[in-house]
Amino acid sequence: MIIAERKPLSEILGMIQGMHRILVLGCRGCVAVCSSGGDKEVAVLASALRLGAVKAGSDMSFGVQTLVRQCDPEYLAPLAEMAKGYDAVISTACGVGVNFIADRCPGVRVLPGLNTTFYGANLSSGEWREMCAGCGSCVLHLTGGLCPVARCAKGLSNGPCGGSVGGRCEINPETACVWHRIHDKLTDLGEADRLMDIMPIKDWRTAGHGGPRKRIREELLP
Ligand code: SF4
Ligand code: SF4
Repeated sequence: MIIAERKPLSEILGMIQGMHRILVLGCRGCVAVCSSGGDKEVAVLASALRLGAVKAGSDMSFGVQTLVRQCDPEYLAPLAEMAKGYDAVISTACGVGVNFIADRCPGVRVLPGLNTTFYGANLSSGEWREMCAGCGSCVLHLTGGLCPVARCAKGLSNGPCGGSVGGRCEINPETACVWHRIHDKLTDLGEADRLMDIMPIKDWRTAGHGGPRKRIREELLP
């Protein structure tokens, strides 16, 4: 899922200085699962903003709504009506939701309430780790299912950099060297020979280096 975290309150308050009515808009997608932008979190954010406004002697007022998803036109349809009378919408969706609202709702000023960080997995309550960088050309069949693009600090494709100590990454010793993990995983699978195969040069155009990506599935088009 997409992992995100709330921006500091002071940064959000700075964005809405001089405004009067603000809608805090949650999303029940990934950001709800990672406890950053769902129903509970928008209620907490709105309360914190109200307090911040009172402390600053401001007459600002805050409404709260949550959409099922902010990245889907089906659920975005009521937003134009919801946002009427508000100076701005603080979206606690990921950056996709904020972009989608900015594109689709011409009269709505949308501000990001979160910092979108990565595609990750939930390791335990309150702990997430990046697992995929959305490179568009997956090589996990060559690496025992462990991603060298997202999980190697240098994004190396053909083995470790040589700096790993005790199986930890030299850039960030708090994390495992993924190439050490790939070696162990392939060895366990009896496929260590794969490590001798040179991975072809990666075509980074599929990773967004050729501009914003788009995908069409003809059979699903209306
Ligand atoms: S190789 Fe690319 S698509 Fe596959 S997990 Fe890594 S970043 Fe994601
Ligand atoms: S120590 Fe391992 S994970 Fe870290 S940069 Fe080197 S190869 Fe990549």
